[in-house]
Amino acid sequence: MSHLEKKYILELDSALSDLDDSSTSFELLEIIISWLSNDFVINEFKKLGYDFSKYVHMEPEKYPIEKSILSKEEIVYFKNNIRRKKLNKKFKFQYFAQYIRDTLEHLFIEHIERACPNCEWGEMQKLEEKGTHKDVYLCTQCGNAFYADNSQIISNSSLVIPIKPS
Ligand SMILES: [Zn+2]
Repeated sequence: MSHLEKKYILELDSALSDLDDSSTSFELLEIIISWLSNDFVINEFKKLGYDFSKYVHMEPEKYPIEKSILSKEEIVYFKNNIRRKKLNKKFKFQYFAQYIRDTLEHLFIEHIERACPNCEWGEMQKLEEKGTHKDVYLCTQCGNAFYADNSQIISNSSLVIPIKPS
């Protein structure tokens, strides 16, 4: 872990110190976004292949954050997990980047119980096909994506995170 990487984790750790078991997933998201709103941090993740810049420009109130599957226990777990990473000298920043990506996806994207037609895994992300606005379900296990009628998406159309109905 480089000096800068360590610094970013320390900053996140300190920003998380206000969270407790009464904190909401919305508060957790606000902390992560404000920590990410820094070009140096964003670029550090870009070097590892993770582009978080889109999240910085998304307005959390437009997304179904309250449907996040992160429970209060998991919010505290996140905070403690970052603290552990801070203390672990062998810790790999690449894994940290992956963990932040997963957490952002859990906060911004509605995850539902739905059997994947391909691998039968029971959890899928609810997304939307860009352009057509059709509902799309993406398997969190095998990564295949399907329309509501379970037909597989074969085009390479891009998927976007749906906003809440207004
Ligand atoms: Zn699957």
